[in-house]
Amino acid sequence: MAHVVIIGGGFAGVWSAAGAALARRDADLRITLIAPNEHLVLRPRLYEPEPDLAKVELGRILDPIGVRQLRASVDVIDTARRVVVADGEKVAYDRLILAAGSKLVAPTDLPGAERLFDIDTLTGARRLTDHLRGRADHSAVVVGAGFVGLEAATALAARGRVLLVDRSEVVGDALGPGPRAEIEAALDKLGIERRLGTTVTGVGAGHAVLSDGTRVDADAVVWCVGMRAGELTRQIPARLDHLGRVPVDHRLRALPEVFVAGDMAAAAFDAEHTVMQACQHATPLGKVAGYNAAADLLGMPLRDFTPGPYVTCLDLGAAGAVFTRGWDRRVMASGADGAAIKSRINQAIHPPVDDAREILAAADRVHIELPFFPRAEKDAAPAT
Ligand SMILES: Cc1cc2nc3c(=O)[nH]c(=O)nc-3n(C[C@H](O)[C@H](O)[C@H](O)COP(=O)(O)OP(=O)(O)OC[C@H]3O[C@@H](n4cnc5c(N)ncnc54)[C@H](O)[C@@H]3O)c2cc1C
Repeated sequence: MAHVVIIGGGFAGVWSAAGAALARRDADLRITLIAPNEHLVLRPRLYEPEPDLAKVELGRILDPIGVRQLRASVDVIDTARRVVVADGEKVAYDRLILAAGSKLVAPTDLPGAERLFDIDTLTGARRLTDHLRGRADHSAVVVGAGFVGLEAATALAARGRVLLVDRSEVVGDALGPGPRAEIEAALDKLGIERRLGTTVTGVGAGHAVLSDGTRVDADAVVWCVGMRAGELTRQIPARLDHLGRVPVDHRLRALPEVFVAGDMAAAAFDAEHTVMQACQHATPLGKVAGYNAAADLLGMPLRDFTPGPYVTCLDLGAAGAVFTRGWDRRVMASGADGAAIKSRINQAIHPPVDDAREILAAADRVHIELPFFPRAEKDAAPAT
């Protein structure tokens, strides 16, 4: 029987599995998802105070739709022989979907690097929460005033003092000027001190050393800079992009038998942009890659990947959230209105569980139904 193998149990892997199961219907086709984790981790929620709430048991999604999970890590992909090796076990495939995600690039040569915290994984977020639990008025240094660093800093500000450090001279540099005024107002409101044009050059017990030579108190230094596709992409014979991603065509195919989804895929968003390493793209990429891998084996027409409008919703803790639309990140809602949208998005990213019909129907709706603030639809020019 033909075999679709998926590597990765994040948004892209899970939705690839559901997409493949949708295309399979009653046909004879085996679908196996290989991932070491028992849960789908909802990484966008890991800045929250209880990170263990940000997970969904994989079995509750995969079992109802007849997808087998192999709890293992893949270390070898042999595209010539169409085999992967997972914890020593060889698994042959007819179509492969590579969806093993991305990782924070943590510094290794920084003195005290082993003391750094992060919120990139459930283990990392738990370690930070456990470390700060019970410390009244803790001090934290957050390195990186990008999307993840801003969410970490504004969440930590509810529980203590926060210093936000960034090499750039502005906060949210990569987000552009669109939401900057809202972000700066939120940081002011929450009393978050900034040291811009600066970075952390060392970490010791209870302190951090900054590049300007200052030593600052820090119960925790949280590293939030840099995300890259996992190393498995290097085993695909292709020219990777600057984020280590594999280029794919509009059907998310990289090689005749290999599709790529999620944070590992450099798929075109439009003529100017590739997709972001973001859940809002990992989900539809997974649905389309999975469907296409199975459809290809079953002789059915493949689907094109057609992304929905690009939006962001940045949680700013007690100062609300800022919701933007388009690549210039025009602000559509902020404060409490933004927070209401963020909370709906954080619910919308939970896949349905236990019910095959619901899971397959969701796999057939390629885009997450984002709860747009009404003004977003009325005022927005089409996303570029
Ligand atoms: C703190 C934080 C906040 C974020 N906020 C947002 C947001 O607001 N909006 C948004 O759109 N995105 C956000 N993101 C990004 C989003 O979480 C990622 O883009 C998304 O998780 C990517 O999904 P993925 O399935 O491609 O990869 P991942 O979620 O990284 O999943 C990868 C999976 O592959 C498995 N795996 C890895 N290596 C192997 C291997 N060798 N063998 C087998 N399995 C393997 C992993 O165990 C995991 O199951 C945020 C990320 C973080 C960390």
